Amino acid sequence: MPRPRTRLRRGPGAAAPAERAPRVGFVSLGCPKALVDSERILTQLRAEGYEVAPTYEAADLVVVNTCGFIDAAVDESLDAIGEALEHNGRVIVTGCLGARPERILERHPRVLKVTGPHAYEDVVGAVHEHLPPRHDPFLDLLPPEGVRLTPRHYAYLKIAEGCNNRCSFCIIPSMRGRLASRRIDEVLREAERLVAAGVKELLVISQDTSAYGADLRYAPGAWRGTSYQTRFVDLARGLAELGAWVRLHYVYPYPHVDEVIPLMAARRVLPYLDVPFQHGSPTVLRRMRRPAHSENTLARIRAWRAQCPDLTIRSTFIVGFPGETDSEFAQLLAWLDEAELDRVGCFKYSPVAGAAANALPDHVAPELQEQRYARFMERAAAISRRRLAQRVGRHLRVLVDAVADGTATARSEADAPQIDGVVRIANAGTLRPGDWAEVRIVAADDYDLTGRLA
Ligand code: SF4
Repeated sequence: MPRPRTRLRRGPGAAAPAERAPRVGFVSLGCPKALVDSERILTQLRAEGYEVAPTYEAADLVVVNTCGFIDAAVDESLDAIGEALEHNGRVIVTGCLGARPERILERHPRVLKVTGPHAYEDVVGAVHEHLPPRHDPFLDLLPPEGVRLTPRHYAYLKIAEGCNNRCSFCIIPSMRGRLASRRIDEVLREAERLVAAGVKELLVISQDTSAYGADLRYAPGAWRGTSYQTRFVDLARGLAELGAWVRLHYVYPYPHVDEVIPLMAARRVLPYLDVPFQHGSPTVLRRMRRPAHSENTLARIRAWRAQCPDLTIRSTFIVGFPGETDSEFAQLLAWLDEAELDRVGCFKYSPVAGAAANALPDHVAPELQEQRYARFMERAAAISRRRLAQRVGRHLRVLVDAVADGTATARSEADAPQIDGVVRIANAGTLRPGDWAEVRIVAADDYDLTGRLA
């Protein structure tokens, strides 16, 4: 799972609050979904006249948005709270770990308040309580796209909260609740505002993007004079009207996903699918209680690629799941060889407090998990190397993320920010972040490409 973080620096002390607008520091941990929560909280606070402080010392109070996905993320969140307490002292905690306040208060009894995931009003209420807003109507003026933590040229578009699945290794549904989709007209209007503000790439996220709208019974909504339903395929059709790159994350291989492939083949949305397959063995998938575990995923991938040969498929996997036998692991490697996925991430299974998988028998020893992880990553790197080598000599359109020392770091349609590879351009010339460029690919390694301006 991608894990962007927004941290605070240390810096010089602040003036007294009475002399200026109140300042909130923000530390955002966890996945892009948590990042979007942070953006919403910050947007609300900015709308009320708060400023965002760049350092602990410049902040009158710090909000830490935590992650509780796996135990390592819990530890990182607890450390981040400790750091904020040490350097600022006035800390409000929110996010996934906030669903387990006892874990936080046991280690950090000094925090001012703990609120749970997607409890925007509670967080904002806690800020009001401990740092009242100053009345200044001019500070209510906000950019129309709200406050964002991503660079100006790309933005995450969160279409739903929660999840109706019950994967045995995951506690997100118990923390974030059941699927709650946003209406399609609201989502399309937000996307339109983002693009009008300069966003060139929209990254669609939720816990289960393919289930979008099921909870609303696919309610209709009008946008730009056309009627759309709150459902996955209509969302892709609507977003395609905006002329931006549209990238779909967290899609499960259900049959209805096939309907979006023609839009990808026509480049109306990016030919990119992020499908968290997690394993290639049907018996392991059943123990994981994965959505769509009974689908013939290899046949589905073949059919997608037949219609859209440039399709990039990204996925994540778990090795060493409880009970994973040698032959199930071998099935995973064979599946991977046949699927030839472009981008692959892998986790070694680790128990999460409260997850059903903890009770499964035959947990895999850490040394064996390590070996399987190394074998899996070696195999995935070889596939990635082979597939990237096929791009050498091709001309690609790329979006520039950063420029330093005359070299630009950019991404092609096959690369999502932060989690996939990049295209390096040595002769960057006058390129700047957010620019489009046409490059000829001159070299490839395991994960990245090198290009020259065409
Ligand atoms: S689909 Fe599974 S892993 Fe993803 S949030 Fe839902 S329960 Fe968790």
